[in-house]
Amino acid sequence: MIFDLVRRILKPKDNIGITDWAEKHIILGQKQPTAFHGRYKGSRTPYMREIHEHMVNPSINHITMCFGAQTGKTLNGTIIPVLYYACEDPAPMIIAFPNERLAQSRSESSIMVMVEDSAYVRETLLSPKKTDFKKLEYIFKTCVINLIGGNSPANMSSRPARIVFIEEADKFPDQTKKEAKAINLLRERTKSFWNKKTIENSTPTVPNAHMWQAFLDGTQHLLHVPCPSCGLEQAVEFEDLDCPLNGTEYISQEAKWKCRGCKTLVADKKFRAQVKKARWIATAEAKDPKHVSYRLPAWYAQWVTFEDVFLEFNRSKDISSELQNFVNSWCAKAYTQKPIESMDDNQILQIHKDFPYPKKTIPLDQDAKFIVYATVDVQKSHLPFSVWATTPDKLFLIDFGSLSVIDDVALLKSNAYKDRDGNVVPVRFALLDTGYRTVECYRFAIGKSWLIPIKGEQGRLTTMTQPLRVEKIVSMPDGSSFGKGKQLYLHHIHPRFFKDELTDSVNNRESCYCPIYFCDGIHVDDFEYVKQITGEVVMEEEPDKYGFVATFYKKVYTNDYFDVAQYAYAARHMMHQTLSNLKKQVDNKQGTDNVLKKQGEENG
Ligand SMILES: [Zn+2]
Repeated sequence: MIFDLVRRILKPKDNIGITDWAEKHIILGQKQPTAFHGRYKGSRTPYMREIHEHMVNPSINHITMCFGAQTGKTLNGTIIPVLYYACEDPAPMIIAFPNERLAQSRSESSIMVMVEDSAYVRETLLSPKKTDFKKLEYIFKTCVINLIGGNSPANMSSRPARIVFIEEADKFPDQTKKEAKAINLLRERTKSFWNKKTIENSTPTVPNAHMWQAFLDGTQHLLHVPCPSCGLEQAVEFEDLDCPLNGTEYISQEAKWKCRGCKTLVADKKFRAQVKKARWIATAEAKDPKHVSYRLPAWYAQWVTFEDVFLEFNRSKDISSELQNFVNSWCAKAYTQKPIESMDDNQILQIHKDFPYPKKTIPLDQDAKFIVYATVDVQKSHLPFSVWATTPDKLFLIDFGSLSVIDDVALLKSNAYKDRDGNVVPVRFALLDTGYRTVECYRFAIGKSWLIPIKGEQGRLTTMTQPLRVEKIVSMPDGSSFGKGKQLYLHHIHPRFFKDELTDSVNNRESCYCPIYFCDGIHVDDFEYVKQITGEVVMEEEPDKYGFVATFYKKVYTNDYFDVAQYAYAARHMMHQTLSNLKKQVDNKQGTDNVLKKQGEENG
């Protein structure tokens, strides 16, 4: 023990830098999860040398490696530096993984075998009493290293450490909410050391998650490769790879890099040779001068070819979750999820342009068969509404705006809209969303046969198997009775059935259930109507453990007019029988006007 201590103090510090140190001392044995066994060679990952230099540079205390998969980042960014520090510059260290299971597996499959295979490291670190790598605390001759999982928050704030390594930061639990704090807690642990370091490596995930933000906060170094023809140094992004297309598939074996300067196409092999001459160039100024950040796409690795890249891209491009993985793990970029379906502003404007008509006017004549009704949403300070004229197979927006108080819904009912021949057409009924300010809504609805109270079901999951479910209500939410014989028939609206009909009515006009039309005025207030009716888009969920991908509607803007428009489709559903009768009349060219007699009569 004393001998060890003396030896450690007297031993001249090996100042050769981490890359050269690893070439001298690290052996990758047969059990290592790598394709390259034998002595470690820095030339396989030439881009690591500069980063290794920063790891021993006292003026740098935070290193972010935003790297693609397969770039050797765990070996070069974590394991070798850990062993270097333990042997040459010992300090209490923490290696943090997303969970303990991963910590355990990395410990046994990588760190343990590397220590055992590398004689110098083994002799420097292991005491005769064997270090137990199954325990997540290594008691080496030189220092103590703790491996911790992000899923055990108690670990995050225990003992101090001079150097903290963080693996796959974005995969820590609760990444979006508490995780930023967990990573900060980890960094806090180093603060009493003047020569502290945080070293993190991970593929990025989404823009707001830790890794992409950490990359943006730092120097944003990109690896610049010189063009073999013109010498222009450039960071090679996916967009710079050129690959011919055959139908919908890329011919991966013909992929090349196209120089941004001289447009020369550079073959894969030549590119790999150029990567050895590449250098890191900072593209931003770090918020903290002690923070350097690096980003490296997968194709910079000597063992990932352009063909591999396009084979993977062919496989991923049409599946949202796979595409996200491609962007994260191959391009080393944050992925912004795009809606798989949304109503496009231009489509709405085109529909209006193709069939324009004045606001507050029904674009149909008296011989047409149609019904006029209103749909109203209730918000905290206002009541957005729309008025519709529907025929058996078309839906026309004829008015929209905002009411100030619930009583105004009665005024809306008494509005007189005119058809194309100038005849006044009454508003037959109104749908009122009672989900918010429910007491006021119920109070207003009781006794009004023309008012249909509705409630939009919330959330992505529903137990509703039917688009509509009718519930008899006889009391206020607090349990107080409406009074003898008074009741309401509340129509529960499926969370997405009518949203799908609405979206379809814009996007698939030929095949949809009922195409929609828009009156003049949707341009005013800087296109506010258009922005709102496109205020929800369809997104894909992360696939579940069976690979099933669910979709859901996501609010991306004020969605008032979107909601009242989906209610217009719900209303059509309620009038299904009436609309069928109207259709028969149109077909038989019979003119009767008394078709909506029963609608809403059960209320009150
Ligand atoms: Zn060039």
